[in-house]
Amino acid sequence: MSVKMPPDALRALPSVDALISSPGGAALIERYGRAPAVDTLRGLLDDARTRLRGGESVAADASSLLDRAAVHLHEEARGTLIPVINATGVIIHTNLGRAPLSEDALAAVRAVGGGYSTLEYDLEAGARGSRLAHPETLLCALTGAEAALVVNNNAAATVLMLATLARGREVIVSRGQLVEIGGGFRVPDIMAESGATLVEIGTTNRTRAADYERAITENSAALMRVHSSNFKQIGFVEETPITAITRVAHDHGVLALDDLGSGALLDTAAYGLAHEPLPQESLQAGMDLVAFSGDKLLGGPQAGILVGKRELVERLKRHPLARAFRADKMTLAALVATLLHYRKGEALEQIPVWRMIARPLAEVRAQAAAWASQVGGSVVDGYSAVGGGSLPGGTLPTALLALNVSSPDIFTATLRRADPPVIARIQDGRVVFDPRTVLPEQSDKLIEIIGRTLQSES
Ligand SMILES: *Cc1c(COP(=O)(O)O)cnc(C)c1O
Repeated sequence: MSVKMPPDALRALPSVDALISSPGGAALIERYGRAPAVDTLRGLLDDARTRLRGGESVAADASSLLDRAAVHLHEEARGTLIPVINATGVIIHTNLGRAPLSEDALAAVRAVGGGYSTLEYDLEAGARGSRLAHPETLLCALTGAEAALVVNNNAAATVLMLATLARGREVIVSRGQLVEIGGGFRVPDIMAESGATLVEIGTTNRTRAADYERAITENSAALMRVHSSNFKQIGFVEETPITAITRVAHDHGVLALDDLGSGALLDTAAYGLAHEPLPQESLQAGMDLVAFSGDKLLGGPQAGILVGKRELVERLKRHPLARAFRADKMTLAALVATLLHYRKGEALEQIPVWRMIARPLAEVRAQAAAWASQVGGSVVDGYSAVGGGSLPGGTLPTALLALNVSSPDIFTATLRRADPPVIARIQDGRVVFDPRTVLPEQSDKLIEIIGRTLQSES
């Protein structure tokens, strides 16, 4: 195969040495370090050479190469895990990191993460302590549990619970609760992974106490309730109340386990939402163990929390998987700080997720109107969503800043390239911004970015 080669253009390419010793190259080295700058320039030169040999025309003079290197190095240094402004109105947005942490939780992460700590040290005894002890007292005080255990996330909590208590035995679950939560969490798969045998009962839409009762054999370990999280059945539907599940379980000497999913410690019904079940209610109803997430409606760090009977929690703590799933010191620090907000009765003011849920519509509307006065557009009614697999279909009335732009798709793509990126929604052909999920300290920046994007449009 003959290859087209414009030898002049190839010969005219600057050398890596020439580029890095130029003032522009020196500036890149100063800013990003020698190895990244040299690697990037070498990569760009290789690329230019390949393209020129392939007969393409490429701007490969020193100044274009240095410009392209600067863009590449900036992106590399910035990384891909970066803060964004969430103007979608979805409060627990799984793709955008779920719950933002409170100031106290962040301060605790900084204090514990930046130095040595009592992670596994008992100050009184001057000897080894347990990392699991830190959140346990608070979790018991808040939920009424005898004991508690924290692992990496709720998926791990569920696997640990089933592997410890039901490996090689049967776990009975209603067909209506065999859900996929997202991110690959499917109840039947989790069950198989933990070594328990799933026994499906009832039908998709109706499961009664008698169905549970009939399925119990001498090889049954537990009846399990799984919160259907992100979907909702309407119409001819019957779920067995959890008090009936726990009664049947205990009448037959098997365990009652609860994968509660979100696990709100406060009642969402006080804010015009449906009632999201609370862990304390599950325990009162007789559940032996309840598992829930730390970064959904709890509003803390990613964590899986297990509360319930002391004897069971102790067995879970001794299982080898508890070691494999153990939570990190920064998680534990943030979780304790978050739980303290509930203990002190200040969750609504201090925990961002709850501040957003409780924010009065009038205040959201005033913010949208203030934005409209700065960048134009209008204020329209809409809905914020709780999200994160909590409260399926649960929405809060909100007020949105709505912009008419020539191409909503291009406009939202430009917003995503801003620094910080802005994630907005398109509704009825307009680009809309929900003040409910924009953190107060991000408001000015958001308006600046919208203003600039509108200008580049015209
Ligand atoms: C979200 C959820 C999980 C998974 O929890 P993670 O903390 O994301 O691991 C498990 N079960 C239910 C019912 C859920 O809603």
